[in-house]
Amino acid sequence: MSRLDTREKLAILADAAKYDASCASSGTAKRDSRGGKGIGSTEGMGICHAYAPDGRCISLLKILLTNSCIFDCHYCINRKSSNVRRARFTVEEVVQLTLAFYRRNYIEGLFLSSGIIRSSDYTMEQIVAVARSLREDHDFRGYIHLKTIPDADPELIRQAGVHADRISINVELPTAGGLKALAPEKNGARIEGAMKGMKGAIEDARDAKRKYRSAPGFAPAGQSTQMIVGADAADDGAIIQRASTLYDRFALRRVYYSAFSPIPDASHVLPLKRPPLLREHRLYQSDWMMRFYGFKPTEVADATDTNGMLPLDIDPKLAWALKHRETFPVDVNRAPREMLLRIPGLGVKAVNRIIASRRWRRLTLDDIARLTVSIAKMRPFLIAEGWRPTALSDRAELHLRPKTEQLELFAG
Ligand code: SF4
Repeated sequence: MSRLDTREKLAILADAAKYDASCASSGTAKRDSRGGKGIGSTEGMGICHAYAPDGRCISLLKILLTNSCIFDCHYCINRKSSNVRRARFTVEEVVQLTLAFYRRNYIEGLFLSSGIIRSSDYTMEQIVAVARSLREDHDFRGYIHLKTIPDADPELIRQAGVHADRISINVELPTAGGLKALAPEKNGARIEGAMKGMKGAIEDARDAKRKYRSAPGFAPAGQSTQMIVGADAADDGAIIQRASTLYDRFALRRVYYSAFSPIPDASHVLPLKRPPLLREHRLYQSDWMMRFYGFKPTEVADATDTNGMLPLDIDPKLAWALKHRETFPVDVNRAPREMLLRIPGLGVKAVNRIIASRRWRRLTLDDIARLTVSIAKMRPFLIAEGWRPTALSDRAELHLRPKTEQLELFAG
């Protein structure tokens, strides 16, 4: 590896990290450095949030410790056989970069991942050393998200949880067959074992915190995972089912979906074309349906077509509603919360406001319009004071086109 300066390493290792989608910083404990103690804050005050051209959050310093790797996962640009320029940060370099970016208010924290160097344990030790030094040597109170190596010693993964806000352990592919074909050196059982261990440690720490306020925190923003979409043959129905199982078994905060991007010198086992970015977006919407709108995974899967894919031209909630016309229209003045949440276009906030308002008076269509962004989409699905739609049909206005202009801003 030729000698590179920090700027060159940053260019290589930030670029190499962009394939990881799981960089959101939501849901952690509040900490700040007001009062002159420590440095950094997990809250957004004064911190610049930005989005990369591909729409991913870059308000964290998102880098790899190294893009060298002893594994050869087919879908990964950093795999052993890939012909990319390699770089490696020292622990101290990552610590100093994070502090420098933080002081300049460029970032609200660090997202650190790594290729596997020497061994899983050695790599994990280095990752933990960065977080430990930031927290203990520099009293860093910003957000830290560490990507762990499932094969590493469980004690090292536990130490990562001691210092990090969020831990992620990637399942990588939606199916066991996909993992075996595209990441043969990874072991699905070990990945799930690491997630199970992390779930137990997070729950134990929460219990201890409930009993003793001074009990040490452990990954307060929980654990997440990422699935690559479109690199194997798994359809959306299978991905939805897998995500639901992961949420149930490992109490994940988030499952991230990352549309597979073709990489230079791609392996011949990979598809030549990337899946539409809209597919990733539809999967996030289906995820939202399960987590916030009370849909069961089988119901979400019901929104898929005969090939098991979510439609791209309409969102999955609308697709589900069109398949279940007998459920509509829903009376906004009488229906229970769970039915209101099924109305296409009506979100959790609007439903809460409807429920609060209807205690005092009967709501008209105009009232609903004031509580929501757009009434056009939901009109055929609801009854309000003075409004009853005619029978639902496949009228053109139900198939509201997605905002492709906006998505194209992020394309290529
Ligand atoms: S282990 Fe991680 S970095 Fe290494 S090739 Fe596989 S996905 Fe890429």
